[in-house]
Amino acid sequence: MPVYTLPDLAYDYGALQPHINGEIMELHHARHHAAYVTGANTVLEKLEEARSAGDFSTVNQLAKNLAFHVSGHVLHSIFWQNLSPHGGDEPTGELKAAIERDFGSFSSFMQLLSNTTNSVQGSGWGVLAYEPVGDRLVVEQVYDHQSNIANASTPLLVIDAWEHAYYLQYRNARPDFVKAVWNIINWEDVARRYADARAKRPQIVAPAP
Ligand code: MN
Repeated sequence: MPVYTLPDLAYDYGALQPHINGEIMELHHARHHAAYVTGANTVLEKLEEARSAGDFSTVNQLAKNLAFHVSGHVLHSIFWQNLSPHGGDEPTGELKAAIERDFGSFSSFMQLLSNTTNSVQGSGWGVLAYEPVGDRLVVEQVYDHQSNIANASTPLLVIDAWEHAYYLQYRNARPDFVKAVWNIINWEDVARRYADARAKRPQIVAPAP
């Protein structure tokens, strides 16, 4: 029984043009994201088989694959909803205030996230995340889908820096792709994620008695 399924997009593959063309969107969603969904379900089956058989000789590789595929599925699911044909502009309300508190200004945050995304070596993501221990926003540079993350942080806004996200349209000019993404960010979705993460803030460090 598959646990993970490929979510539909809320817009057509061509709806984010000219910023991201339809061919990239279709391949990215129907092929790449779909492969992470299949991979996540497959690794769960293999872990179940290993556990049932009492043969734990493969669990090292399976644990790596679990982190890779589940994180790939999670980040892409967020990425599609972070984007909208009606996106762009700037955040408002509590998210805007938190960005200004934690990064100085929106413009300074934009520069930080853009440079963090542009400077990924190999494949990875630039991520704005809510970090619950400090009750603050952080910008993370994620390797592949799963590494270099502050544990317990919740991704709010993610920018895919894998070549499959931009190469057909932007060739090697990743910074041009990242610049274009700012025009289609769905700030309402990011703000909803921030409010939701704060409301469910886990008690990781127990309060003093
Ligand atoms: Mn991707």
